[in-house]
Amino acid sequence: MVETFKDRLKRVSRRYIRFDTLQTLQLNLGTLCNMRCEHCHVGASPAGQKVMGRPIIDQIAEIVKRIPGIALDITGGCPEMNPHFRHLIEKTEGSARRIVRSNLTILSEPGYEWLPDFFREQRLAVTASLPCYLEENVDRQRGKGTHARSIAALRRLNQLGYGTELELNLVYNPGSDFIPGSQQLLEDAYRKELADKYGLRFNHLFTLTNAPIGRFRAFLEGNGSYERYMNLLSSRFNPDAAENIMCRTLISVDWEGVLYNCDFNQAIGLPITGSGGEILTIGELEAAARSGKELFLSDHCYCCTAGEGSSCTGALVA
Ligand code: SF4
Ligand code: SF4
Repeated sequence: MVETFKDRLKRVSRRYIRFDTLQTLQLNLGTLCNMRCEHCHVGASPAGQKVMGRPIIDQIAEIVKRIPGIALDITGGCPEMNPHFRHLIEKTEGSARRIVRSNLTILSEPGYEWLPDFFREQRLAVTASLPCYLEENVDRQRGKGTHARSIAALRRLNQLGYGTELELNLVYNPGSDFIPGSQQLLEDAYRKELADKYGLRFNHLFTLTNAPIGRFRAFLEGNGSYERYMNLLSSRFNPDAAENIMCRTLISVDWEGVLYNCDFNQAIGLPITGSGGEILTIGELEAAARSGKELFLSDHCYCCTAGEGSSCTGALVA
């Protein structure tokens, strides 16, 4: 790679390497998950040890109350497995918008059957992983039986009004080392396939480029394609996506309350620091989200600007 991501961004606009305004607080509740997917950038699994505790959750809920209009984007791991998940949702009732990122299979795990009704009661928006509409691709990427369980979960959510009265979005990510194609075309294909085969509805499909970090990086290095993938990301740099990189309007919080520019930075341990180099935590959200504060960027960031761009809410220029 010839140029750092930060330099590349600066060539488009010096503004783009700086924070704009806080619109979304993303809460990563930890690495506990009922699955163990190959591409997982946070390395989550049933043995995940990082679990956000109640004191941090309470602190976040108090802070959020003071920021009108902010969206809460709740992720993990599998956020629903955090023992304080219900408490967090109840404490943040009244927030402008709350999104839960669900892997769908958790909804059929014993002991978690209450979740869909709870989502509805609390009017949570659901953003659900479904890396393909084809069974063989989903099962290859996420484990045997995942597709069938995901379809059953989507059916239940549809019955409760998700996909019509309540928001249900799906997330696609490539099964290997390539960049997603057109988000709109893929959404059309998902919509047709899921409706025709299973009678399912959803609102939007978000395409997400795999970040070259964590388990996915290990996979790339293992088959000798890391360099090739990085070159692909940088060669497909899209200046139009640069203005909208999500870290200009989002702050991510980890299980211990440490702040990051995004979940990817969190996964690689690149926190937001203050002027003296000190790591900022949730109590210092205002300082971390100051307009004009320089972002903490590295070369994995090329995954956000390749092709149509990529973010937690899908393509950036679709
Ligand atoms: S990708 Fe999602 S569902 Fe899979 S292990 Fe990671 S957190 Fe769990
Ligand atoms: S990886 Fe994170 S910090 Fe880098 S450009 Fe993407 S959102 Fe911003």
